Amino acid sequence: MNRYLEQLIELSKIDKEIDSFEPKIEAIKKELFLVQKKEDELVQKKDTLLEEKKENELKIRQHELHIAELSEKLNDINKKSAAVKSEKEMKALQLEEDITKEQLDFANEEIERLQKANELKDEFVLEIEEELKEVQKVVEATKAEVEEKLANLEKERAEVYAKREKLLGKINQKILEFYHKVRKWAGNTTVVPVKKQACYGCYMRINDKTYAAVIKSEDIVTCPHCGRILYVEETTEEE
Ligand SMILES: [Zn+2]
Repeated sequence: MNRYLEQLIELSKIDKEIDSFEPKIEAIKKELFLVQKKEDELVQKKDTLLEEKKENELKIRQHELHIAELSEKLNDINKKSAAVKSEKEMKALQLEEDITKEQLDFANEEIERLQKANELKDEFVLEIEEELKEVQKVVEATKAEVEEKLANLEKERAEVYAKREKLLGKINQKILEFYHKVRKWAGNTTVVPVKKQACYGCYMRINDKTYAAVIKSEDIVTCPHCGRILYVEETTEEE
């Protein structure tokens, strides 16, 4: 086989390998992203519950203040009723007392309702904290795993780059320029095999003359349909 062609086949394989690193890195980072997202969601949920609890506590305090006011009012009503003169006045005071007591009942009920709601929120917070502990363990483990995987990939990538540099030093500049010209549009299918007399870049059948030239592989042959660089895979590879 033509030496230049051999080099281009190797270069195209290396370039393809280099391009495969980014998606691998993205996939690994995504693993961590997904568990961290779960952690974030739990923290968010917990914060919301604590926030709601705080709001309820504020409401309870307002109700307590109101209760103090209402109690004072009841005392006043009692004092006034001792000095009451007419039945009309007494009825008016009675009405006022009833309303005040209703308001007191309502405030007390509200406090009880809010306290119960907060007790429930406390339970939820505890559950979330338990879950959070587990998720945080997973996050830590994933972090370590991901770091190791990324470090390995970086090492592999550096090796492939070194291989590429070494190869580039050997390749004829004109051939390399041609390769890059095709690669601009063909990407990782710049150098493709011919199988069953078809170009494996555009999948079109190539004519007998081109096919014979590819088999001979004395020159660099391009596909007459798409312009990709063609080669015939070694029979050992096909087997
Ligand atoms: Zn083609």
